[in-house]
Amino acid sequence: MSARADITLTTPLAEVPGITPRVAEALRDLGPRNVGQLLAYLPARHERLEAESPIADLVPGRIGSARGTVSATRVVRGRAPRFEVVLIDDTGRLDLVFFNQAYLRDKIHPGDRLRVQGKVGRRAGGAQLANPKWERLPAEGDEPAASEERLRPVYPASEALGSPAIEKAVARVLPAADLIEDHLPEPFRTERQMPALSRAYRMIHAPADEAEAAAARRRLAYDELLLLQLGLALKRRERGGAGTAPALRWTEQIDRHIRARMPFTLTPAQDEVVREVAADLSRDTPANRLIQGDVGSGKTAVAVYAMLMAVASGHQAALMAPTELLAEQHAQSIGAMLKGSDVRLALLTGAGGGGSAGGETRRREVLEALAAGEIDVVIGTHAILTEGVRFASLAVAVIDEQHRFGVHQRSRLRAKGVGSTEATARRGAAQGRLGGAGADPRAAVGGHTSPHMLVMTATPIPRTLAMTLFGDLDVSTITGLPPGRKPVKTRVVGPDAASEVYVWLAKQLRGGAQAYIVAPTIDPIEASPPVGEGAGAVPLASVREVRERLERGPLAGLRLAEMHGQMRADERGEVMARFRAGEIDALVATTVIEVGVDVPNASVMVVEHAERFGLAQLHQLRGRVGRGKRASACVLIGQATTEDAAARLRVMAQTSDGFQLAEKDLEIRGFGDVLGVRQSGMPPFRVAELPRDLDLLALARRDALAWAERSPRLDGPGEGTIRRRLEKAHGQWLDLAGVA
Ligand code: ADP
Ligand code: MG
Repeated sequence: MSARADITLTTPLAEVPGITPRVAEALRDLGPRNVGQLLAYLPARHERLEAESPIADLVPGRIGSARGTVSATRVVRGRAPRFEVVLIDDTGRLDLVFFNQAYLRDKIHPGDRLRVQGKVGRRAGGAQLANPKWERLPAEGDEPAASEERLRPVYPASEALGSPAIEKAVARVLPAADLIEDHLPEPFRTERQMPALSRAYRMIHAPADEAEAAAARRRLAYDELLLLQLGLALKRRERGGAGTAPALRWTEQIDRHIRARMPFTLTPAQDEVVREVAADLSRDTPANRLIQGDVGSGKTAVAVYAMLMAVASGHQAALMAPTELLAEQHAQSIGAMLKGSDVRLALLTGAGGGGSAGGETRRREVLEALAAGEIDVVIGTHAILTEGVRFASLAVAVIDEQHRFGVHQRSRLRAKGVGSTEATARRGAAQGRLGGAGADPRAAVGGHTSPHMLVMTATPIPRTLAMTLFGDLDVSTITGLPPGRKPVKTRVVGPDAASEVYVWLAKQLRGGAQAYIVAPTIDPIEASPPVGEGAGAVPLASVREVRERLERGPLAGLRLAEMHGQMRADERGEVMARFRAGEIDALVATTVIEVGVDVPNASVMVVEHAERFGLAQLHQLRGRVGRGKRASACVLIGQATTEDAAARLRVMAQTSDGFQLAEKDLEIRGFGDVLGVRQSGMPPFRVAELPRDLDLLALARRDALAWAERSPRLDGPGEGTIRRRLEKAHGQWLDLAGVA
């Protein structure tokens, strides 16, 4: 068929010769309304259509394909209910058996002509196909020729329109694929061995062989990745603008002084990341680096190193944590490291709320000191982002547990880098706070506009996947854990075993262990069942109720305390201090302890209603133990009511490797949820698949960076098409105002 001159990419499907109104309508329900949209309706996969052979020539044990006339059908009930069909041609008889598909009785009738394909089995008197693929052929005479072996596209279909019917409709519009403009210049394509876009579309819908299907797929997947990476690269340029950051000094002496502050020797993995970070910070372009490392891998030490580099050059540093509890802990432990130095450290959390008495006055003092450059390191929550916070000269900003914050918060912190020249001058005097590091006053001068940014996450994102979502970030990975860690033994038990668990726990605690017991809520409430599950309220374990129950029962005589987000900061600080000092045996807590909390002697974790928590969250919770010398254990008490929940609990018991867990999480939940893609608004990929297309991703990233460098506004000759497509795909969620 040749393209009719009047068919364009925008021709409505109902006007395409050969597409009936019924088919056009069924297609519309699936999405495509016009020719271009139908061409963009891609097959989900391809399957091999075997060459047809006469029934007598079918070979047992092989995939075979044949056509024939239905001579008889019947439904067989009983233990293996099935629908049986006898298919005959001139050479013999073929028995088809469809298990559990009695409904086919309304679809297949004697006299029908069928084409079938499946693995050929042998039975007395002839060949048999169990659950074969089948397709009705039009009335005899109008029948398609016996098919040669070929690859056939399999489309996402509907009840009204099966994949073969979609294939036929696509065939009608396929010549119009030649009208699709290519957004990649020819030499560029050739260099990367990519087919032209129009050819890629023709090949994905009607590949001559596997190589064509693969080539088409590669081009379309590359396009998706390239547009995403290009969008991110342009966004990054737009944001980065001409901005500069202070180039921090990094000398052997500074390195030595910083390391001397750490209570341990950095592991080789930490060392490597520190080197990458230090190299970033000594440049005058703002660093933008993601530091990922499993729970307990020692990311804080890297953050401290970076912050002290800022201080050594006479600048300020900020560390932002997602919870007050974690901010308090960081302030406490980093404060301990800095004892005896004259680095000035302050904690800044939200005004009011969890603040202690007199918090408001203290907060005002901190704000003034920050603006005056009299505080070197500030640790806090998102309160650091609020309006009133000004820095004299913020050079390094660290966001801990990045996955808990949004993209917008990241850019707000970046905007805080502006330092007034006045304050910068005053800072000239602020040197050598690490005890003789001897900052060069010149390093502190030079109106920078943006701090170096480090974001840390313990939600283990496999490096490669991180690259897609955070395409604008460099990535460092701390592999492995500090030495001496013992694996955490994980057990999953049902609620009926809870009393047994607590008897065991009492024994552990009497033996000197400390434990966290996690409950989903603070006060007893009647929880509504998770969406999609039967009605009927389930009483949820709460911190209050669990503590009372345990104190009266199995843990009587042991020292229990509560920890949750509604306590005042000073109460929380006091409880954590006592827990750390071993004066409390078990903390009954909400998930406030989920991120970052670090008490090495705590070695047992019990989670109530474990089925309610996500995989990443359970992994984080479990990460609170296994940090010290004691052998650690984690008991998940839960009753899975969904298949996903059951899978999560199973996986938790199987592995404690965060990266493996992330992969599993990916399998269970899908790409979008795990990386927060859905939240970010990034459209899902249609063709590209990660990690399968990793090499393509790397290629696309390289190409995108070079392209953005060459033509930051995409306004060069011949760039109209790619600009339009980029705007359509990513303009909105990336807010590419200045570009497309
Ligand atoms: P995370 O990556 O989860 O933030 P932390 O920074 O809290 O991990 O470190 C986890 C624990 O390991 C802390 O108790 C910390 O003191 C300890 N730690 C970190 N680095 C080392 C090291 N190189 N040697 C020994 N212990 C370390
Ligand atoms: Mg941490």
